[in-house]
Amino acid sequence: MTQSLSVLFEEIYQAPAQALSSAPGRVNIIGEHTDYSEGFVLPCSLEFCTKVLYRKRNDTLVTVHSTQYPGEHDRFDVSADISQGDSQWGNYIRAMAFVLKRQGHQLSGVDVLIDSDVPQGSGLSSSAALEVAIGGMFNDTAKLNLSTEDIALLGQQAENDFMDCQCGIMDQMISAKGEPGCALKIDCRDLSTQSVRIPDDLNLVIINSNYPRKLVDSEYNQRRIDCESAAQKMNIKSLRDANLDILQQFKTALTDDEYRRARHVITENQRVISAIDALASNDLEKLGDLMQASHESLRNDFEVTVAATDGIVDIIKGALADKAAVRMTGGGFGGAVVCLCRAEDVATVKRAIEQHYHAQFDLIADIYDCRAGSGLEILPVA
Ligand code: ADP
Ligand code: MG
Repeated sequence: MTQSLSVLFEEIYQAPAQALSSAPGRVNIIGEHTDYSEGFVLPCSLEFCTKVLYRKRNDTLVTVHSTQYPGEHDRFDVSADISQGDSQWGNYIRAMAFVLKRQGHQLSGVDVLIDSDVPQGSGLSSSAALEVAIGGMFNDTAKLNLSTEDIALLGQQAENDFMDCQCGIMDQMISAKGEPGCALKIDCRDLSTQSVRIPDDLNLVIINSNYPRKLVDSEYNQRRIDCESAAQKMNIKSLRDANLDILQQFKTALTDDEYRRARHVITENQRVISAIDALASNDLEKLGDLMQASHESLRNDFEVTVAATDGIVDIIKGALADKAAVRMTGGGFGGAVVCLCRAEDVATVKRAIEQHYHAQFDLIADIYDCRAGSGLEILPVA
């Protein structure tokens, strides 16, 4: 693929690409909607990734093409103020240039070609993969000496301050720092990380509900506000500092929504720690219980599941019971479900979804067999 991509690059820009920046999509195993409350998350980077081929220019123009949007390109000048352009996806590249310049970095012009196999808008974070890959490219072309953590933080700022989505740090951190074969525990307070090996005999299956997502950003931002106001009323910096005793003490001061959002975050943080033990001892049944509890908490307390993702979880549990650890993954309101199971049970998962999902929800799910792939890499062009 990289070779035909370099041919395409040369056709578009009449000169060969100089290098390739590659960053993966991700799936979150457990620790959902906890990152912006400074909690724990346990995502893993996927082999699906976004590849950015580039060549530094001698001027200050950035030109971008994407194989996913043929016939459309974006161009802007990094020496001028950077504002929104007409290309919806081009704005992610502008966003990265904007936050880098705001930090005082000097950028040079670059010709860019993007290619990706991360499904877009499915909760596997194609946007973070794009931000991190573009961050890696600017870091290389402008010799900025940024760490992977710096690039992740810039990606989050790009999304928060330029794209108007108040996401936490999880997606960009895992895309920047993921390791093959591992999940990564991220402490979203101090950004320290710990690799957690995924046992070789545990398969990672992702089921994209293809449910048409609506109002995602506004609902997401509202959840964040609920968590922040709950923390404020409990006189703590963030829900990371809460526990169930503190929550009970303040129950009457909180609205019902605030109480339930906080209860989700508190219990979910505990489940992340327990899930790390379950993975370390390859205890699928325990992992299954934790993921089931996570899903129920996201459904009842955090209210971010939809009937289609609840249905996928029920269909898989109906087929495999405690031989599958399964829950919704990502921000919710549609999106994907993650399932960990043994290799011999993957076919049962696929069959159960094919038999029941369309019949119940009038939608066709996409099913991906995945493995944990590398985080951000800068590679020579093939
Ligand atoms: P998610 O991050 O869950 O996949 P988002 O809506 O946050 O969904 O991000 C998807 C957006 O990211 C797309 O609409 C597009 O603007 C941008 N994007 C992702 N991948 C690519 C790509 N390969 N080429 C161009 N833009 C992309
Ligand atoms: Mg996104």
